[in-house]
Amino acid sequence: DCKQAPTGPIETTLCDYETVESYNDELFGKLHELVETPFFKYYRADLYRECPFWHENGLCMNKECVITTVDESEIPEKWRAAELSKVEMPSGEQRHEVEGCFYRDTDFCYLDDMSEGDYIDLTLNPERFTGYAGISAQRVWSSIYRENCFGLSESKISRKPDSMVDPDEEKICLEQRVYYKIISGLHASISTHICHQDMNRTTGEWGPNLQCFINRIAAYPERLQYIYFNTVLLLRAVARIGPYLSAYDYCGGTGSHEGDAETLAKLTRVIDIAKTVGKFDETSLFNGENANVLKEEFKEHFRNVTRIMDCVGCDKCRLWGKIQTQGVGTALKILFELDENALNPHLNSQLLSRSEVVALINTLHRFTESLSAVNDFRKLWAETDKQE
Ligand code: FAD
Repeated sequence: DCKQAPTGPIETTLCDYETVESYNDELFGKLHELVETPFFKYYRADLYRECPFWHENGLCMNKECVITTVDESEIPEKWRAAELSKVEMPSGEQRHEVEGCFYRDTDFCYLDDMSEGDYIDLTLNPERFTGYAGISAQRVWSSIYRENCFGLSESKISRKPDSMVDPDEEKICLEQRVYYKIISGLHASISTHICHQDMNRTTGEWGPNLQCFINRIAAYPERLQYIYFNTVLLLRAVARIGPYLSAYDYCGGTGSHEGDAETLAKLTRVIDIAKTVGKFDETSLFNGENANVLKEEFKEHFRNVTRIMDCVGCDKCRLWGKIQTQGVGTALKILFELDENALNPHLNSQLLSRSEVVALINTLHRFTESLSAVNDFRKLWAETDKQE
């Protein structure tokens, strides 16, 4: 019943719903302040690459689909593409390139080539209802599910709790279930934002749309559970990468070390909470027979999802789709590809690019925002029930 917050353990994690709930307000608040700081609000993305999988002509003409870009001169020099590409050029590992983007062997996403793209101030382009829907949006989602979910469908997996899924009978291993939860949870989180920041087409006002939330999320309690699951997964990644994030240089935007120290203080609190709430045992995955084959398959599928974002026919949706798939992909890399040595900021100071750090923190912010929005919907629902 989605009228109340779920209780008990969050499947395939070592955390429970109550713990996430008890920290979410503070976490969301801190992350909200963090994503408004210069370091975390500027993101560079190439939003105009062609869809590599099909001819996409479903361009969204609504004004809400449009992106406002920022001139390069507004971006602190240190964070401009030309500067970053000098220090962030992948070294050692093989770089695989495809039209305008690339990935390294450890990456779970395609990363945009620094030579193309625009700078965007994310605070000026909030993810919310845009009106993008219909065949184009459906095609993207169904392609993500059908082609990239190891052949899984919602009816086959998500209606049963983990304990009831017999892997032999269903031929679904833990890694595949985790994969599905990640995708479905991301979809549910995006839908929650759309419903929470919906535009009333009669009055033109923005606000929460309870019926939208009931139809898309509350009618499927497992979708809501997967939002919590993704939050825990991302928090575990942030906890793991904590020392590296603490050593990162956030200066450059404000020009003042005061601003830098403030950013770091907020981030430190987020990392502390992540250590308490991000209880996910990444070693329980990819450790059986054929582990390496399965991991490569998982990576390839997830990388494809990041490329499918170039097929989203609405610029703003494409932007947030890219950020959030990159954020989750970065978390997966942190959990499944990097050992303790790699995570040591002194031994490996170029471990993550600026864009990966920005995507990771903004994505976690989006998930905690969804959980906060769900609480608003619960209150609205209770009020509606009282009135009836
Ligand atoms: P959709 O959300 O399109 O879902 C399609 C089908 O998938 C459903 O019919 C259902 O069978 C299944 N499904 C739905 N949710 C889940 C789930 N959580 N788990 C498993 N299966 C599920 N629109 C905006 O207004 N603003 C945005 O910022 C925005 N960003 C987007 C980003 C991406 C990457 C994509 C692909 C689309 C985005 N859209 C956005 C469009 C939005 O996601 C919906 O596609 C649109 O609102 C139409 O919704 P719908 O109810 O038809 O179902």
